Amino acid sequence: MTQSNSHAADLVVKNATVLPFDEEFSVLENCDIVVLDGRIAACGPGEAARWSTTDTLDGRDVVVTPGLCNGHTHSPETLARGLADTAPLGRWLETVWGRLDHLDHESIRLGILLCAAEMLHGGVTAVVDHFRQTPANRLSVDSAATSWLESGIRATVAVMVRDRNVPAWVKQPISCAEQVDMLRECTERWDGTEGRLRIAIGPSAPTRCSDELLRAAGALCDHYGIALQMHVDETRDEVALARSRFGDSAVRHLDRLGILGPHVSLAHCVWCGPEDLEILASTRSAVVHNPVSNLRLGSGRAPIERMRDRGVDVVIGTDGAASNDSQSVLESVKVAALLPRLSNDDPSDWISARQALSLATINAGRVFDMGDGRLAAGCRADFAAFERAALPFAPANDLHCQLAFAGGGVRARHVVVDGRVVLRNHEIVTFDEQRVLNLAVARGTPFGADGSAD
Ligand SMILES: [Zn+2]
Repeated sequence: MTQSNSHAADLVVKNATVLPFDEEFSVLENCDIVVLDGRIAACGPGEAARWSTTDTLDGRDVVVTPGLCNGHTHSPETLARGLADTAPLGRWLETVWGRLDHLDHESIRLGILLCAAEMLHGGVTAVVDHFRQTPANRLSVDSAATSWLESGIRATVAVMVRDRNVPAWVKQPISCAEQVDMLRECTERWDGTEGRLRIAIGPSAPTRCSDELLRAAGALCDHYGIALQMHVDETRDEVALARSRFGDSAVRHLDRLGILGPHVSLAHCVWCGPEDLEILASTRSAVVHNPVSNLRLGSGRAPIERMRDRGVDVVIGTDGAASNDSQSVLESVKVAALLPRLSNDDPSDWISARQALSLATINAGRVFDMGDGRLAAGCRADFAAFERAALPFAPANDLHCQLAFAGGGVRARHVVVDGRVVLRNHEIVTFDEQRVLNLAVARGTPFGADGSAD
């Protein structure tokens, strides 16, 4: 194992098939990955011989890829899968969120660990949790932060705030000033913890926030150097509401407020027009595409090929488990690639398997400060090792394409986040998955037998 003149690594993966997600989408055989201080110190054939280590993963039967990033979810919704099957967004929100907006610590933790378990088995190493409780409050953000840290995944908690169009079940008034104070406290307390947890500001949507709150959100991002995530133009109703309230599109309104920029990711953008896309491109604001959720709620299809043509950065999200109903990033990758083929005769307008995988890897690495989305010396050590002797890869004709299109049935054997093995031989090492599952079963549904919120 050890050579007297070798360097000491924290972890070495030996003899793996590696998809580094470089420009050529190479496939490297018999490749070693050396991890030191949370980063990849070396990646290539024969590298292991130059390093000593106390921890080795046998790579002979795995395909190693950069860890996948889920760019948009709402963790409490893992407690509400399977509800409101045929409801569009408005009715769905009422059914699902009436029971989820005031969760106690144990429920928030349960939702997050269920979410994390599913994502880890699916090769996900980073997530943006657009974390909703109404009104947003310090205690619930504390619960979310501690639970994501416990999970071992790299997480950004984008604290969802709103002070307009508040649902009827929220009895107390919401003050903009109090929300801003709470956001400041949460950021100062949690942002950057363990190098793995970020706080972001998550205005619910332009139509659900006063301009005062939106401006304050933008100022907090500037002050603390943090990100902003927000729903925009998810449905045609929301576009109409923005028009009636702002006399303009939501994107133009946000641009006028001066809060767009490279730190901003807008979830959905299903109904953004050509001028909106020009603004997103010129401000370098990103779009989080949630194709499965958009289909589930009948919201429409986001024109990601037009976004791509205009130079808008697009990443992938599952959205919450109540509108998906899984947290499988690979499933959303597949749907993202296939949807444009429904209405375009010209294959040059299609999204390829490699381009779709890039939404969850390379693009996410560019948009979020949560890993690099590729594997090379110097990158953060966030990666997944998928079973190679699995039906989706047998025989191996085109590993990238098979991962994107057949990968729904493949599970990660190992997952490494920030240089730490979080999933080893299919077992989560950071928390007791079986206990979490048992707890979820024992508690039963928080909803009525008919799926109602009362
Ligand atoms: Zn959402």
